[in-house]
Order: sequence, then structure tokens, then C-alpha cells
Amino acid sequence: MKFEAIAVEKIPLIHEGDNLPSIICEKIGLQDRDIMIIASTIVAKAEGEIFRLEDITPGEEALEIAARTGKDPRFIQAVLSKSREVFVETPFMLVTTLAGHTCVNAGIDESNIENGFLLYPPENPDASALKIGKELEKLSGKKLSIIITDTNGRAFKIGQTGVAIGIYNIKPVKRWIGEKDLFGKVLEITEQAIADELAGAANLLMGEGAGGIPVVIIRGLDYYCEGNTSIKESYRPENMDVIKQGLRCLRNKK
Ligand code: GDP
Ligand code: MN
Ligand code: MN
Repeated sequence: MKFEAIAVEKIPLIHEGDNLPSIICEKIGLQDRDIMIIASTIVAKAEGEIFRLEDITPGEEALEIAARTGKDPRFIQAVLSKSREVFVETPFMLVTTLAGHTCVNAGIDESNIENGFLLYPPENPDASALKIGKELEKLSGKKLSIIITDTNGRAFKIGQTGVAIGIYNIKPVKRWIGEKDLFGKVLEITEQAIADELAGAANLLMGEGAGGIPVVIIRGLDYYCEGNTSIKESYRPENMDVIKQGLRCLRNKK
């Protein structure tokens, strides 16, 4: 058994309005059931999610958090404007974004963008994946899966990794429940985070710096799943999320 991960080389610096499907299609020959992993950075750049820090006016809540934490109130305002709930204010802001993803700083980046600018994540990464995927399928004539990724930290462990924030034609999680283990025992709880695992694999080729590899093709794995899929299927239901419940308790005590 094996699969391949292929870096798509020579993608230029991306700017607002760039047509990502045609840029990518020119650089790589695609095959049926390829899984294309795209860094959210270039999706956000193409969608024009770039803002100047100095243009942001902090509101009351941002000023309060800034006073408590000593952080730049403009950056806090940026994070708040993309968040539906704040769990942690310092040493980093941990939030659930408007799109429903829980991460640090609402996924707003200051790296791989000119100084003084902020790059917000794509507004609706599932919708971006669908749009890019449909266009790429039209251009290439192939059946494709798309995963839009970002780099996120993890609870409990040092080190960031690629995670999926938007998908097309792939299920984010594979259920092993009901399957048997090596000894015939029926698995009761195991669900495999396929989309995050693929994001992590692709991130090995992307890196986090000046590598200039925002697109990776995973070939040889069969996870193609036609039809409506959403990264939201992988978000733990609120009533089962004990970590969020714990963080809310801590916040309410303060
Ligand atoms: P994120 O994880 O989605 O926030 O993206 P990163 O900033 O970590 O970048 C992932 C990869 O994409 C790295 O190899 C970057 O050098 C590369 N990258 C970022 N922006 C661009 C761009 O506009 N053009 C190209 N060719 N590569 C980019
Ligand atoms: Mn990022
Ligand atoms: Mn990254």
C-alpha cells in the first residue's frame, strides 16, 4: 500500500481576484480522485481578505480586552469581528469563528503577507472549496476532492499542524464504529479525522515559511465522496464538547 504527496511548484504570489483554479491547472496534470490540498492563505488572498492594521478601529470590547491583556486593540478587534465566542483572551485568543472553526486568533495571519497587513481566513471555506473544486473539475475533466487547510495549534501538545477548514467531495471523518479489530472485537467509538490527517501530510511539503508551496496533491488514496459534504460534520456537537464547557466555566468565574 502506498500514496503520493506531490507539491505543485511555481505557483506565483497570489493577489485579490486571481483565478486559483486556472493558475493551479496550468501547473499540474490532474487525475481522477486526486485530493487537492490548498493552503487557506492563498484562498484568502484571492478572495481579497487583506486588511491594514492601521485602518481597524477597536470597539469597546476590544479596548477592554486590550486593557486586560496588553495586546494591540486593533488586532483584537480584527479577531472579534470574525468570532462568535471567545474562550481564552491571553496568552492567545482562542475563539470559535463565524464559520464555526475553533482556533487561535480566528485564523488571522500576519505571516506570508506584507508588513502592516492582516490576512483574514476565507469567509466560508466550504463554499470556497466547492467553487474551486467545481471549476477545477470543469477545467481538468477529472473527479476531484478539495481540502482547504490552515495551520493550527493543538491542546496538550507543542507544535502546530495542518488542519482542514473547508472541504469538497470528501468526508471529513471516517467512522470505524461497527468494524472489527484484529481480534474480532467490534469498535465502538473510533472515528478517524481523515481530512485533518491529509492536511497534516500535505503540510509536510508546504511548511510554514517562504517555501512557496500552497498546493499539494495527494494521489493514491480513495476518499472521493461525491455530493454535499461540510467540514461542519467534524465539529463536535456543543452538548458533547467538554473542553468548551470547561473553558466557559473558567471564564464565567473570572
Ligand atoms: P496557512 O497555513 O494557510 O496559514 O499558510 P502558510 O502561511 O503557512 O503558507 C503555506 C505555504 O504556502 C507556504 O509554503 C508558503 O510559503 C506558501 N504561500 C503562502 N502564500 C503564497 C503565495 O501567495 N504564493 C505561493 N506560491 N505560495 C504561498
Ligand atoms: Mn494561517
Ligand atoms: Mn501554515
